[in-house]
Amino acid sequence: MRCLVCEAWSLSHICKRCQSTLLRPTPKKRHIIEDFYVYSFYGYSEIEELLLTKHSYIGAYIYRILAKNSFESFKAHLDLEAFVIPVDDRIKKDGYSHTAILAKALYSPKLTPRYNSLWASNEVSYAGRSLEYRLAHPRGLCYTGPKADIVLVDDIVTTGLTLKEAYYATKAKGASPIAALVLADARD
Ligand SMILES: [Zn+2]
Repeated sequence: MRCLVCEAWSLSHICKRCQSTLLRPTPKKRHIIEDFYVYSFYGYSEIEELLLTKHSYIGAYIYRILAKNSFESFKAHLDLEAFVIPVDDRIKKDGYSHTAILAKALYSPKLTPRYNSLWASNEVSYAGRSLEYRLAHPRGLCYTGPKADIVLVDDIVTTGLTLKEAYYATKAKGASPIAALVLADARD
């Protein structure tokens, strides 16, 4: 096949050279609320086209590659024991959940993914929407996961509203959200 980025022949959807250059992560930390921070690995514009693949079947391969280059190499530096909670990981029409793929990449002896624990009761899409729209249409996140330390996982942080909502929704059900990990920060 051809590399999705540079179109060179490649055994993977993104060739080794593009993975080591374009997908070399630059970790950043952003404050969300109280003592809750989100860690991101890429600027949104750097990998926008790759993130948009989540709307088709190919996104399952691309998100695995993105997660391998960021989450998977970062997890060794995380000195904590927690459950990993993907944000709204319902399976979409193409048969996978992109946030579940990200959560799976964090799996380790100390980090345990728990799927289908945090889901949106309102099917609202925030893509390209204004802050006013987002504020007026909360996702109605419901949490049914463990009452323990948790790390939230999503693909993009934009205004931080979803993570704030997730923070409150999980806390209200007895969990302790420690931090969030996302692939890209759309503020960059
Ligand atoms: Zn390439």
